[in-house]
Amino acid sequence: MHRITLIPGDGIGPEVTQSAREVVDAAGVDVTWDVVGAGMQTGRDEGAPLPASVFRSIAESRLALKGPTQTPFGDAYPVPVGDRVYPSVAIALRKELQLFVNVRPARNYPGIKSRFDHVDLVIFRENSEDLYIGRERMVDADTAEAVKVITRQASERVARFAFDYMRKIGRRKLSVIHKSNVLKLTDGLFLKTAQHVAREYPEFEVNQRVVDALCMELVIRPEAFDCLLLPNLYGDIVSDLAAGLVGGLGVAPGANIGTRYAMFEAVHGSAPDIAGKDIANPMAMILSAVMLLRYIGETVAGDRIDRALEAVLREREHVTRDLGGSAGTRRMTAAIVEKLAADIRN
Ligand code: NAD
Repeated sequence: MHRITLIPGDGIGPEVTQSAREVVDAAGVDVTWDVVGAGMQTGRDEGAPLPASVFRSIAESRLALKGPTQTPFGDAYPVPVGDRVYPSVAIALRKELQLFVNVRPARNYPGIKSRFDHVDLVIFRENSEDLYIGRERMVDADTAEAVKVITRQASERVARFAFDYMRKIGRRKLSVIHKSNVLKLTDGLFLKTAQHVAREYPEFEVNQRVVDALCMELVIRPEAFDCLLLPNLYGDIVSDLAAGLVGGLGVAPGANIGTRYAMFEAVHGSAPDIAGKDIANPMAMILSAVMLLRYIGETVAGDRIDRALEAVLREREHVTRDLGGSAGTRRMTAAIVEKLAADIRN
């Protein structure tokens, strides 16, 4: 039996996490869901957007399935945790739980329109440093600066994770992405460290690309790439580009993984424009749950959900509007659950 912390989140979060929960339950996995609140609504209800109850639950379960949480644009939105303050709930969780890598697969699914076929990428984004450490300031009224930090330790940790993960999922090729022609010390260290770690994994083919050249190649022939390893900022940008290659945000799952804890969440946000209308696409959240199942070794259930989802996508009868259909979130979820039941019966 598995214990999983479920954070419904804001906007469409409660709808799509409910779908993921129903689908996981229907796949024959024994899960106890510990539902805890975080996000803007929780902030209104409980006075804190990220209450201690979330950390207590994850300390026990070590696993979280997280719906998107809303961060108001423009306004200051402090998320306090102890004596530290973060700019959003998602960032606070990634930092506090030391989730050092963000894994984002991007692949074609049947029935989902995109410009390319045969795209099947796995992106490993370093999640703890680079320009995102939060050291940004106004030097004077007309000058702003941000500090970029790359360490050998964090680069080594993420490179090793990428190779181990590739080994587990049967991948062959890793492209290390950088801009070391300009950022010789920081990106240079990231590249050199990854190449050094690669020597311990001789079975993989390893190459490197400058990030701008990679972007051009990705939009011309994405099928030429297998796995990508990137520092934080490039990883953030390139993984959204990759989601665009295969059908957009509604189909992009993600995992944030550390040494003790792991948190799985869709790439999309809380989509306040469509919240509560039963029209959100639950696919990205369901695929995030599939990543969670594979992470805890429930691969049979993960494969089962993949098959059920693909069958529903192929038939196109019960898919949401963003996928060209007219089904609601609940109907699409029910269709996947029906396929799962049939799969288990056979
Ligand atoms: P968004 O992803 O919420 O929405 C962008 C567009 O995509 C919207 O038109 C929306 O309707 C659509 N969309 C998103 N998910 C969809 C789905 N599952 N099905 C169908 N359509 C979908 O991005 P945004 O509008 O920039 O952000 C809204 C809020 O979400 C902000 O407060 C932002 O801070 C937050 N956010 C949270 C996370 C997170 O918690 N990890 C990630 C990104 C954004």
